[in-house]
Amino acid sequence: MSIWNDLWELLFPRLCVVCGKKLLVSEDMVCFSCMSELPRTGLSGAPGNEMEKLFWGRFPVERASALFYYSREGKVARILAGMKYHGRKDMCFKMGGMLADELLPAGFFDGVDCLIPVPLHPKRLRRRGYNQSEWLARGIAAKVDIPICTEALRRARNNQSQTRKSAFERQVNAENLFVLALPPAALENKHVVVIDDVLTTGATIGACADALSEVENIRISVLTLAWTK
Ligand SMILES: [Zn+2]
Repeated sequence: MSIWNDLWELLFPRLCVVCGKKLLVSEDMVCFSCMSELPRTGLSGAPGNEMEKLFWGRFPVERASALFYYSREGKVARILAGMKYHGRKDMCFKMGGMLADELLPAGFFDGVDCLIPVPLHPKRLRRRGYNQSEWLARGIAAKVDIPICTEALRRARNNQSQTRKSAFERQVNAENLFVLALPPAALENKHVVVIDDVLTTGATIGACADALSEVENIRISVLTLAWTK
């Protein structure tokens, strides 16, 4: 067994997705050195934190948190690129687990009824083969034992990439982007956590909240892997 493992490692060495160096047997996807240098936000989802303030005046947000800060040239950008463009579902799952490990002790998931990953447009979903936010949610769910609800929201149209747009353009671009796809009664009085890979202006999550606001007495929290502060 181990001889084959050794041979496999020799032929196909596992590399750190951030720095590209060969991983040690005890390392998984990201080497210890890169892992220790990832810029953590330290946001536990405490009431009134900086990320929550981003949504004030848009919708009532229960809790908000992200694990890392994002910058275009930074280490976290490489992780996100792996999750989105290089087919690394396993990376999404692992990062979801890290989010859960960080936030579970802080009580972030207390009283939460379901996790709602931001949906992709069916066309994009077909091209990518999976939804990175759903796989983040799966990684979280595996640790917190909260169901994932992928049927709550549907993307109404395939909007263009947000990356090169201004904050105002993103806002307009995201209007009516999602529709509620379940009967509102199904989510009544529930506390849901909307999950996405990265938060920038909050336009996409705001659009999810707009669609969810049809539901009576729903409480909405926001959780992303990274945040462009
Ligand atoms: Zn590394």
